[in-house]
Amino acid sequence: MHVMYPREVVDEALRLTFLGLTDEVVAARCGVSAQAVRHWRHGTRRSRRAEEGRTAYCPVCGTGTLDPRAYSYLLGLYLGDGYIGAIRNGVDYLSVFCCDTWPGLIEECAAAISQVFPVGVFRVPRQGCTEVKAASKHWRCVFPQHGRGAKNERRMTLRPWQSEIVDAHPEAFVRGLFHSDGCRVSNRVRKRVGGRWKYYEYPRYLFSNTSQDIVDLLTGALDLLGIPWRSRVEPKPPHRDAVIVSVARRAAVARMDSFVGPKY
Ligand SMILES: [Zn+2]
Repeated sequence: MHVMYPREVVDEALRLTFLGLTDEVVAARCGVSAQAVRHWRHGTRRSRRAEEGRTAYCPVCGTGTLDPRAYSYLLGLYLGDGYIGAIRNGVDYLSVFCCDTWPGLIEECAAAISQVFPVGVFRVPRQGCTEVKAASKHWRCVFPQHGRGAKNERRMTLRPWQSEIVDAHPEAFVRGLFHSDGCRVSNRVRKRVGGRWKYYEYPRYLFSNTSQDIVDLLTGALDLLGIPWRSRVEPKPPHRDAVIVSVARRAAVARMDSFVGPKY
């Protein structure tokens, strides 16, 4: 006879399993039998039913509500540095790769994931970066852009419900995109003025991506915000050309500073 465990217990067990712990260790930590953990992992008919019950909550296909601002930000991160992969039994994980140079962004990413979807978020240290991860059966509902191959090799268009959210929260979307594939740089230029050398700072925002679709999503949001931008193609042989979007006018940079700012 199988006990139906609370969702939190199953979630925690799958999370620990995903971290690489054995069934026995996971069972001991969660206070369940190793057999139960094995069932959740392997997905017998019973445990699949249990899992369906566990994950009926979904902000897109289920009864949940979607936090639009957090979603808009996370969508920007996902389009830049995100990836959806399969674990087992229809459970997927969302991974966002965050550079270790910016610990604040790692925390903001983790916070956005749990605001969008109430799942356990964990951090896996990688070479020079941290993989922020969360498991769910519904990541493909939340980000229907998933698919085989690199993002720059397939169409990246938003579903109507996603466009609505981005149009309502373009600042969060732009912030997410710049936090993943963008940066704020400052060029220091020395100029001779009235016989004296003076330094001038020219801050600008740069965004680089090899998917024209993703660039179009960014520039569409910038247009909506009335922020002027320019773009150029940067050849990167043997790889695909990158498109660089630059926001450089003083007023535009000031506007971007009000909701993006430097990485931290
Ligand atoms: Zn769903």
